[in-house]
Amino acid sequence: MTRKIAILGATGSIGTSTLDLVERDTERFEVVAVTAATNVEALAGIARRTNARLAVISDERLLPELRERLGGTACEASAGEGALVEAALSAELVVAAIVGCAGLRPVMAAVEAGRTIALANKEALVTAGELMTGAAARSGATILPVDSEHNAIFQCLAGSNKGSVSRIILTASGGPFRTASAQTMRDASPAEAVAHPNWSMGAKISVDSATMMNKGLELIEAYHLFGVPSERIDIVIHPQSVVHSLVEFADGSVLAQLGSPDMRIPIAYALAWPERMATPAQRLDLAAIARLDFEAPDLERFPALKLARHALEVRGAAPIVLNAANEAAVALFLAGSIGFTDIARLVRSALEDSKHAPPRSIEEVFEIDRLTRTRLDALMQAA
Ligand code: NAD
Ligand code: MG
Repeated sequence: MTRKIAILGATGSIGTSTLDLVERDTERFEVVAVTAATNVEALAGIARRTNARLAVISDERLLPELRERLGGTACEASAGEGALVEAALSAELVVAAIVGCAGLRPVMAAVEAGRTIALANKEALVTAGELMTGAAARSGATILPVDSEHNAIFQCLAGSNKGSVSRIILTASGGPFRTASAQTMRDASPAEAVAHPNWSMGAKISVDSATMMNKGLELIEAYHLFGVPSERIDIVIHPQSVVHSLVEFADGSVLAQLGSPDMRIPIAYALAWPERMATPAQRLDLAAIARLDFEAPDLERFPALKLARHALEVRGAAPIVLNAANEAAVALFLAGSIGFTDIARLVRSALEDSKHAPPRSIEEVFEIDRLTRTRLDALMQAA
């Protein structure tokens, strides 16, 4: 039996790793839809290679070029937000690999339709949390975490009852500035910030790893996926990125999932679930690794961790404000408009200012997201 899959964000880092796996096993998987933001050439290439039926480019101005590049194939070219939703609904298994809140609408559509979602797009769950888990409970949708930490926790939880979990322990590499001085961090360039020691990822998540906002978003993600409150989710620095996360149970047992830092392992788990599939990922050689280190995170140099925990505890609109301010600030940093440590400073200001009521719909999530970005622009003008 082949499984039909839609890959949202097919040209990105997670999208590319997903394609690497499914193209090795065309008996098991059939790619029906692929999407990208602006890279028409790459998208058309993927659609041709996989014989996808639908290719969606978000930027509508690029639709004529996409059509031209798909000439002579049976693949339909489409553009815009409605088409993204159509792509998400075209398959039973949806790989959600768009970066940022931009991926929320198609993910939510797949959740409402009761599909199986391999979720990499953590910002969608962070911003729409209760709305998304509520919709999944009603529709029967299955959300399988692709984020390596949450995938590890999901694996550790298999077969145990939720009441027996006492603590979740998220591991974090600490990013490129784990041991850097406060001064080095203030002066950090975009190139230095995206140079992650263990993982090769898109630019936005790489900067989030450097500020550790990534771990903050993952804290909120873990709360929504596993229903464990903030005070029972710990974060520990583990520079080797071999232990992907851990679960502690009532009896004091701690289960961990280990593997080489290769996203194809958690992606494969989500693609094949509830079975497993082979991957070409390098096998762990523990004797060669020799040691695994752990340390507490430094909340002074990484204030994003405190801001995210605060947003999780306040709930309501706070996680949306946190995420929107962070997305906007990271874009400003990558463009060279602000310094590295300004990212957390701007996110804090946005959170302090925000007085939004909790969102009752996805439209309200987008409205809070939009207002937060406008507020950030105003903060920038004032500076
Ligand atoms: P990336 O930047 O490499 O790729 C993003 C993809 O989304 C691209 O295909 C791009 O065309 C598309 N996209 C970007 N902006 C868009 C928009 N406005 N509208 C529609 N499509 C858009 O990012 P990535 O590293 O693959 O990360 C994707 C998601 O997975 C993020 O949410 C990230 O946090 C999460 N994630 C990534 C990794 C990793 O190893 N890369 C690990 C864990 C979680
Ligand atoms: Mg992660």
